[in-house]
Amino acid sequence: GTLSIAAILAESARRRPEAPALHFMDQTITYGTLWDQTRAYAGALAARGIGPGSRMAMIVPNVPDFPRVYYAALALGAIVVPVHLLFKTEEIRFVLDDAKVDLVVAAAPFLGEAAPAAALAGVPLLTVLAPPGFELDGEPVARLEDEAAAAEPIERYASVHPLAAATILYTSGTTGTPKGAVGSHLAVVEQVHTCLIDTWDYRPDDVLYGGLPFFHTFGQTVVLNAGFRRGAAIILLPKFDADEALALLVRHQATVFAGVPTNYAAMVAAANRTADRPPLRYAISGGAPLPTALLEAFEAGYGAQVHEGYGLTETSPVASFNLVSEPIRPGTVGRSIWGVDIAVADPETEDRIDLLPPEALGEIVVRGHNLMKGYLGRPDATAAAIVNGWFRTGDLGTVDAGGVIQIVDRKKDMIIRNGYNVYPTEVEAVLSRHPSVALAAVFGVPHPERGQEVHAAVVPVEGADPDPAELVTYVKAKIAAYKYPRVVHLVEALPLGPSGKILKRELQRLFGG
Ligand code: ATP
Repeated sequence: GTLSIAAILAESARRRPEAPALHFMDQTITYGTLWDQTRAYAGALAARGIGPGSRMAMIVPNVPDFPRVYYAALALGAIVVPVHLLFKTEEIRFVLDDAKVDLVVAAAPFLGEAAPAAALAGVPLLTVLAPPGFELDGEPVARLEDEAAAAEPIERYASVHPLAAATILYTSGTTGTPKGAVGSHLAVVEQVHTCLIDTWDYRPDDVLYGGLPFFHTFGQTVVLNAGFRRGAAIILLPKFDADEALALLVRHQATVFAGVPTNYAAMVAAANRTADRPPLRYAISGGAPLPTALLEAFEAGYGAQVHEGYGLTETSPVASFNLVSEPIRPGTVGRSIWGVDIAVADPETEDRIDLLPPEALGEIVVRGHNLMKGYLGRPDATAAAIVNGWFRTGDLGTVDAGGVIQIVDRKKDMIIRNGYNVYPTEVEAVLSRHPSVALAAVFGVPHPERGQEVHAAVVPVEGADPDPAELVTYVKAKIAAYKYPRVVHLVEALPLGPSGKILKRELQRLFGG
């Protein structure tokens, strides 16, 4: 059999060409138009030699060119390598070399970093979002748009083997050396279908918030691919700003919001500055733990239920979810999605998977159709990560007898203070309940006697001026003595990665002494 992620756009265009696919600035682009533009881009890429198995990197924000470039490459049977938008020259070059990229498409605002990276890696470069006759340092840069105007559009998307590689998504924004997780056409299409059938119930007349970056698995699958598969409209927002997001949600009458917890905190603050509200049916959270206090604040402010899920780049990404058809279980990430097993394994045994009984705390492991094929060019890392079909997530958690999953923390974020394990997520949840706290991040800082000390960085709610010592006392009264933060740093903002996740490494660097 054959299959293609490109069918997601092509088939929606075939069925309802006049339906809106994208809202961007003052434009609305229909499915029919978007697919025509994509076919033209694919023609140009084919003329550049891109075909089945080619690897094409893209450095494009959430603008209409993201789906055009993404589906054009996939329609040719090529493998797409979306690059983090915050990557600097050396990081981009690493990806281009590591993934043995044949061509890179970079949006003009990113050329300052991308062009030297492409030159160093010896990879040809095309640009989008550049005006006609565009030059960089006096040199013309080839525009994909010009080449598309000169090329013959493709007729149909190429169908490929279902298990053929479709995407290489680099993971580890938050923890270390990037590894390329290779995803197949099947994993993404199956993920989208499973989630649309019973995880979320997007409808063709839904209007989805599209501010999660599409280069990351969360925005790419949950918003772009799932939204387009259903034929819904997506509101594009290239750079997150909560006031702008709220204005767009209202203007386009958005019905579904999807974000990471820091987005929720910002949206709650934005709702205090205007009475306008979009007609949201529900909201989706993932990517990091959502404190229950924040979930409740969003529900109170927007009148929409938040459904939290859990997943990773390596699991395409959704592994578990609080289904939209069921009452949510706050503080949990729901149960595993259809066709996916989630269990808890002994974190200490590395060469095999020793499953633990229900309720036991251990490492979350995942098995099913959503798993990546492996880490590109890293058989050892792949073999260490996937054992007997089980993928080790690096997250600690529990699964109860009914299959409800709780993520306790990332293994690597756990703080060991005086020999006691402290899970930052638990401490953050307590801090988040304080009325003056908008956002909290708890992390370990090296300490000469205790090994590590518990620190917290807190963003106060607008207009509040909390006393750090009072915040320490507040938490101290609510949890065991070894867990409460000894030091609270008040900050205006937390360091965030491109997908909006808090960078704890950066906090450790800033406050590590
Ligand atoms: P890494 O450095 O390991 O690549 P990352 O954040 O860059 O981290 P992603 O694939 O984007 O990698 O995120 C996966 C991780 O996000 C999970 O391993 C888990 O720690 C965290 N996560 C995702 N959803 C949730 C959730 N609902 N609750 C708690 N943590 C979550």
